[in-house]
Amino acid sequence: MTVKLYDTDSYLYEFNCKVTSLYSDNDYIYIETDRTAFFPEGGGQTCDKGSLGGINVENIQIIDGKIVHFVKNSEENAKKLKIGTVLSGKIDKNKRFSDMQQHSGEHIFSGIVNSLYGYNNVGFHLGSEVVTLDFDGELNEDDICKVENLVNEAIWRNLEIKVTFPSDEELSKIKYRSKIEIEGQVRLVEIPGVDICACCAPHVKFTGEIGIVRVVNFERYKGGTRVSILCGERAMLDIRHKLKQNRLVSNLTSSKQDETAAAVERLRNENEKLKFDLIGMTRDFLTLKSQSIAHEEKIVIFDEKLQGKLLQDFAISLMDKTGKFAACFSGENGSYRYCIVSRQVNLQPLAKALNSRFSGRGGGKPEIVQGSISAESEKEIKEFLEGFEI
Ligand SMILES: [Zn+2]
Repeated sequence: MTVKLYDTDSYLYEFNCKVTSLYSDNDYIYIETDRTAFFPEGGGQTCDKGSLGGINVENIQIIDGKIVHFVKNSEENAKKLKIGTVLSGKIDKNKRFSDMQQHSGEHIFSGIVNSLYGYNNVGFHLGSEVVTLDFDGELNEDDICKVENLVNEAIWRNLEIKVTFPSDEELSKIKYRSKIEIEGQVRLVEIPGVDICACCAPHVKFTGEIGIVRVVNFERYKGGTRVSILCGERAMLDIRHKLKQNRLVSNLTSSKQDETAAAVERLRNENEKLKFDLIGMTRDFLTLKSQSIAHEEKIVIFDEKLQGKLLQDFAISLMDKTGKFAACFSGENGSYRYCIVSRQVNLQPLAKALNSRFSGRGGGKPEIVQGSISAESEKEIKEFLEGFEI
């Protein structure tokens, strides 16, 4: 059985080990060793990164209860690996430490939620971005703020995080959180006065090393709450990025950095009003335009200003100016919306032919048809309508 060096020393980033088993397939060589400091993927956390004997370790999994290191299968790598060979292992320090900050932060958060509200952490994911925690009860914004405050207070108290391996008898007297029934030796991670939880992952030694825990999102999830947190450096980088965004918004809106939301709201309201005014002015303009159009057998108009309902309104305003039909189009880059009106002829066959010629869709009543088509140019639509016998 491989000795898990990370069980008792989470800061062991370099170690030696002996190869005890080797097998391979097309992609990988699978290495088991007498001991390892590599934390394998498990319990919602991704595995460590690093190298063994100078070879990059691609993955570490527990297979049939054994810790297996995956390295790329190549001739060169195969040559270096023999049963009994002593390899030096190197753990990617930055990833390990960041994972420890996230995981220890998660324990404090879950422990405090459990003691305040009695909810259990029933789902945990620690990948390369946010850490998600699923609780089997609902937390509102006030609850989240309260927990976040208490979590950070526990960090500032710089509590020692203790890892113990209690006997069954000792264990029976301890109240601890556990997600699953554990067979064999239980490893407890205790943060005094805050949390005791069965866990196999590496943790920081003192809570102060977590630095800060920030909740970046929370939402209802499966009848409970999914909370997304960032701890330590990840929290700092996130805050830096968001403060920069706010600073840019502050510059763009010429507002103070703590009043950007009000400034954006003001801009949005102004924008709504401008849009409303513009629609009114466009309508006035189109009324004048419609009045200036002379009576013709077929009227065909293309105008990008015919947005939304204006297209239909404008077409209807031309109804009495045409012997056969008035066709109005709006659009660009090859795709057009159309509305065609007539008091004299049934437009349904025209709509059908138009859709069929220009891969379009739509239809309507004999006196008004609407839809959308694709065409390379306005010209080919105009030519089609000019030539259409109706
Ligand atoms: Zn844990």
